[in-house]
Amino acid sequence: MAYRTENPATGVVEQEFTSLTDADVARAVERADAAFTSWRKTPAEQRAAALAAVADAFQERGDELARVISTEMGKPFTQAQGEVALSSSIYRWYADHGPALLQEETLDVGDSAKSVVVTDPVGVLMGVMPWNFPQYQVARFAAPNLMLGNTVLLKHASICGRTAELIEEILHAAGIPEDAYINLFVSTDQVTDIIADPRVRGVSLTGSEGAGKAVAETAAQNLKKSVLELGGSDPLIVLDDVDVAETAKTVATARMSNAGQACNSPKRIFVPASMFDEFVKVVVETVEAMTVGNPLEDGTDVGPLSSVQGRDDAVAQVERAVEQGATLHTGGTALDRDGAWMAPAVLTGVTREMDAFKEEIFGPVAVVYSYDSVDEAVELANDSSFGLSGSVWAQDTAKAEEIARRLEVGMTYVNEHGTTKAGLPFGGVRRSGYGRELGRWGFGEFANTKLVRVA
Ligand code: NAP
Repeated sequence: MAYRTENPATGVVEQEFTSLTDADVARAVERADAAFTSWRKTPAEQRAAALAAVADAFQERGDELARVISTEMGKPFTQAQGEVALSSSIYRWYADHGPALLQEETLDVGDSAKSVVVTDPVGVLMGVMPWNFPQYQVARFAAPNLMLGNTVLLKHASICGRTAELIEEILHAAGIPEDAYINLFVSTDQVTDIIADPRVRGVSLTGSEGAGKAVAETAAQNLKKSVLELGGSDPLIVLDDVDVAETAKTVATARMSNAGQACNSPKRIFVPASMFDEFVKVVVETVEAMTVGNPLEDGTDVGPLSSVQGRDDAVAQVERAVEQGATLHTGGTALDRDGAWMAPAVLTGVTREMDAFKEEIFGPVAVVYSYDSVDEAVELANDSSFGLSGSVWAQDTAKAEEIARRLEVGMTYVNEHGTTKAGLPFGGVRRSGYGRELGRWGFGEFANTKLVRVA
C-alpha cells in the first residue's frame, strides 16, 4: 500500500510519503549490513547511552509524538501519551539492563575445560510493524536489538508514515548511527525480497495472521528465524465474589480503550449467570456514557477506528453476529460523520458456533458471555484458536490465580488485563504467534548464544 495519512477523525488526507525504489532498498540493505560490522563492536555502554538518549527524547517530545499518533490512527490523545511514555520506558529498560544482559556466563559442567557462553548479535534484522500502537511496537523490537548490536530495517504500517519518520529522526539524533536503523517506505513485495536477502538474518512482525503467514513463509524458505506477534481474542473471566458494578465498569473501559483495537484487548468476557444481567446492564450504561469524539479533544473516551475499512469490517462482524442470533444491546453501527466512526457496541448471546466467538473483533465491541461453573468458563476461554493473554477477576486472588494458571495463553493476569511493562515478557501461543518480546526474553530472540570452550 502507498504510504499516506488519512486522518480517521476527518477523512482528510493530510500527508503522503514517497515509497522507495528497489534500488533504494538494495542500498539500504547494503548500508545496514556495513553498519553491523561497526555497531556490534561499539562498546555496550555506548549503545546503552544512545538508547537512554532515545528514552529522554521520547519524554521531552511526548506530546508531539502523541499528537501524531492520534492524527494518524485516531487514538485519544491521553492514551497516545501513555503509549509514548511506555515506549520511552522500554528504551530506558534496555539502556539500564543491556550491559548486564551481555555479560558472559561461565558454565560448570564438571570438567576442567573452560566453558563460557557469550551473547552475540546476528546481523541485519527486518521489522514489520502495525498501526495500533505505532510507537510501542517499534520500541519492543528496536530497543533490545539495537542494544544487542544488531542493525534494523523497519517497515511501518502504511498509515503511520510520520510516526515512522519521527522514530528514525529521534534514534539518529540520540546517537544510533544512520545506517544502524533505517526506516523503509516499502511494499510487501519488497519486504519479501528483503527477508530473502542473505545479509538479513531474521524478521519480526507484529500484525495480522495473514501478514504473519506471508512473512514466516518467506523466512522459512530462506531458513531464517521469525518472531510473530499476531492477533488475539483474549478471555476475561469474572468470578462471583466481585463488586459487580465496579468490575463491569472497569472491564467495559478496558475493552473500549484504543477503540478496541488492541491485540490483547479482553474480547471475550465471561460472567457468572447469577450476576450476568446486572453486569451487562452496567457495561451497556458505561459504554453509552462514553464520549465518542475528536481524539485530540479533552474528555474523549473513544476515537474513530484507524480506517474506514477497519470500521466497516467491525460493523460487518457485529451485523453477522446478530444475523446468527446474538443480541445487540447498543451501538454497532457506523456513525454518520466523515471519517471512520462507529458507535461502541455490546453483544450477548454469542454461542461458540458463531463467527463472533471464533474471530478476532478488532473494534469497540464488548461481547459478554454467561457461564454456570468455573470449569465451564475455563473450557470456553481455552476454546479458541488464539492464545495471547487472559485474566481472572475476583476478591479471592488465590483462587483467581489458580484459575488464571489454567488459561492456555502467553500472559495471564489477576484483577488487571494486558498490563505491559518493559521488564515483563510479551507474546502468545497458538495462532497468536510465537517468540517473546520485552524484558530479558526479548533480548534473546535474535541473539547468537555462543559457546566458547577451551580444553
Ligand atoms: P496488518 O495488516 O497485518 O499490518 C501489519 C504490518 O504488516 C503493516 O506494516 C503491513 O503493511 C504489513 N503487512 C501486511 N501484509 C503483509 C505481507 N503480506 N507481507 C509483509 N508485510 C505485510 O495488521 P494490522 O491490521 O495493521 O494490525 C492488526 C492486527 O495486528 C490484529 O490482528 C492485531 O491483533 C495484531 N496485533 C498483534 C499484536 C501483538 O503483539 N500480538 C500487537 C498489535 C496488533 P501495510 O500497512 O503496508 O499493509
